[in-house]
Amino acid sequence: MQPQRIAIIGAGTAGLASAIVLARQGHAVTLFEQSPLMSTVGAGILLQPSGMAVFRHLGVLDDALALGARVTALRGRLANGTLLIDSAYREACAEHFGLGLHRASLCHVLLQALQSLPVTWHMGATVTQLDVDDDGAAVAWTGTNGSGLARFDLALVANGARSPFRPREWVLLDEPYPWGAVWAILPECGTLPRDILHQYFHGAARMMGILPTGAVPEAPRQPLTSLFWSVPAAELDAWQGSDAHVAAFKAEVRMRWPAASGWIDEAVQGPAQFLPARYRDVVMTRFGAGRLGVLGDAAHAMSPQLGQGVNMALLDAWALGQAMQETDDLDALWARYHALRLPSVRFYQFMSRALTPFYQSHSRALGLLRDLAFPWMYRMPWLRREMARTVSGIKAGPFAELSLEAIAQPVPGQLPEGVPPG
Ligand SMILES: Cc1cc2nc3c(=O)[nH]c(=O)nc-3n(C[C@H](O)[C@H](O)[C@H](O)COP(=O)(O)OP(=O)(O)OC[C@H]3O[C@@H](n4cnc5c(N)ncnc54)[C@H](O)[C@@H]3O)c2cc1C
Repeated sequence: MQPQRIAIIGAGTAGLASAIVLARQGHAVTLFEQSPLMSTVGAGILLQPSGMAVFRHLGVLDDALALGARVTALRGRLANGTLLIDSAYREACAEHFGLGLHRASLCHVLLQALQSLPVTWHMGATVTQLDVDDDGAAVAWTGTNGSGLARFDLALVANGARSPFRPREWVLLDEPYPWGAVWAILPECGTLPRDILHQYFHGAARMMGILPTGAVPEAPRQPLTSLFWSVPAAELDAWQGSDAHVAAFKAEVRMRWPAASGWIDEAVQGPAQFLPARYRDVVMTRFGAGRLGVLGDAAHAMSPQLGQGVNMALLDAWALGQAMQETDDLDALWARYHALRLPSVRFYQFMSRALTPFYQSHSRALGLLRDLAFPWMYRMPWLRREMARTVSGIKAGPFAELSLEAIAQPVPGQLPEGVPPG
């Protein structure tokens, strides 16, 4: 596509990755971010092989590998020790692994790539209105440096799950998820295998996750671990600053999962270490038309049970770049984008909505069914492989897969990673 003036609303994963792709294609990109500074706060995330392929495409994978922690498998246990989930990445592909990454590190590697690109930044600028017509988009913002209004050829909405800018007629479902989590970033857990995402379950109402998270750029030699504890959304506020909740949590871990309690007893000191996370389900019939596109959580927020959100946001950026490169026609652009993204998004939204109640709900029946069925399911080689492929982020439907090799191809004009310029 001929160079366009493009507004990107939101500098999260979707916004930053799209800015890299589009600026490298020669478009005039303007980024609007409501936070005055790029946030270094956030739970650890698990970058999947799909997200890593996009990182390679962007030329930032080596930087991420240097900061992240390799995760070879997901292991979920019941209090009696039964292995409920046992999914190794190598069952999808011998070279696959996940990368536990601190959000500050994720942000850092994307910002590094953006540094050399001519992107216009509006930090501390909250977009308050977006009006899109046949000729372009008008963006109004207000913030620390005053207010403004500017016109662009194209607007990309990437401002997260609570975005008010999704066209209503594209939205099938937009509702808060009844469960959330509290999370903390703690010194590395050295008492459990370090290359595993450990999960612990009791019924469907109790779930704990321990994710190797690697290091942050300011302290690259201090590995960290993320701790997640599932909590009904209605109880999240009560957790804030509550010593009693933290004490009850520690006591429960000691009773049910003693293998994890040594580290937790030492690393968890009080409620100030925990932050709440709320989820949303957003399902749309389309992600773009004319001069408007919607990316990342704004387009397809889901519970993080399958650990795909960041990876989906990265795949959105990759797909948009592919579609923009291929055509000058807006209808053809969005047709191509939907062909690249809809099958995968639909598959993961379906799986996430189907599986999450088995892990986060008050249903005793679903918890029991899961405890009886899942250990057997994991004994079936085909299902083990399918589960590993699903977690890897490569599914594009029940019987279709993304080609990570094709996705990882470098952006045109960019040297492959490891090749020194000149
Ligand atoms: C506890 C938890 C654990 C998770 N774990 C994982 C995991 O392991 N793996 C994984 O892949 N995903 C995970 N996710 C999901 C993942 O965090 C999201 O899918 C991902 O961050 C979405 O990126 P995004 O860029 O679409 O949105 P966001 O990261 O929400 O970014 C949106 C940006 O827009 C800005 N913004 C908002 N409104 C405005 C406005 N009006 N004007 C200007 N700027 C605005 C915000 O400040 C923000 O910077 C997890 C989520 C949670 C809550």
